[in-house]
Amino acid sequence: MTAAEVTKRYKEVVKRSFDRHLDLFLTAHFLRSPTQDLANATPQAYAMFQLEPLEWDYYLRSHQAKRLSAAFSATSTVGALDQAIQDWWGKHKVQGLQAFQQAHKQHCISEDDFRALFPLETELCCVYCGITAGQFQRLIRAGQVQTKRLRTRGSTFEIDCREPRLGYAAGNLALCCYWCNNAKSDEFKAEEFQPVAEALGRVWRQRLRNVDNSSLAE
Ligand SMILES: [Zn+2]
Repeated sequence: MTAAEVTKRYKEVVKRSFDRHLDLFLTAHFLRSPTQDLANATPQAYAMFQLEPLEWDYYLRSHQAKRLSAAFSATSTVGALDQAIQDWWGKHKVQGLQAFQQAHKQHCISEDDFRALFPLETELCCVYCGITAGQFQRLIRAGQVQTKRLRTRGSTFEIDCREPRLGYAAGNLALCCYWCNNAKSDEFKAEEFQPVAEALGRVWRQRLRNVDNSSLAE
């Protein structure tokens, strides 16, 4: 991966981290507010924000809800939370988000630390399933990968938050393949996901052997 590509990826990660962390803040703020609104979700409140473990559970549940009418807390629905967040965004898109973006920096990996995730001399390799970028390229060329979304994402490697609750903070990021990233989602911690990744790795290696055998047979 070239230096320019890493810079581009870093910018994407900062944006993703900001959107996600702000969403987490607004969700927690809504929960904490006695009147269940976001009137006091100010840059000052954001700068001081520390997530409580239980609030992460609420956040996950709100994202996994199938319907807006689903309960969010004892006294509110996912729809009410969603509306409050949308209204907040409507207001702050006009006012600007610079103060929030500034405060977000402490929750996000620095560009130097991010750059260190990408080895310059060696090939990219998934930390979970152990398959390399070159092996995925071989499988894709041989028609052994069905995923179509790859074309739009453009790469088989992504940045994963090992412990989802901690987001894109320094020390919490890992380089992994698209499939491990997708399967792990926000639901599983790295150690919980490891047995799943090893099973996926066995399937990929079997497909690689099939590719090798069929090229030998030609
Ligand atoms: Zn993987």
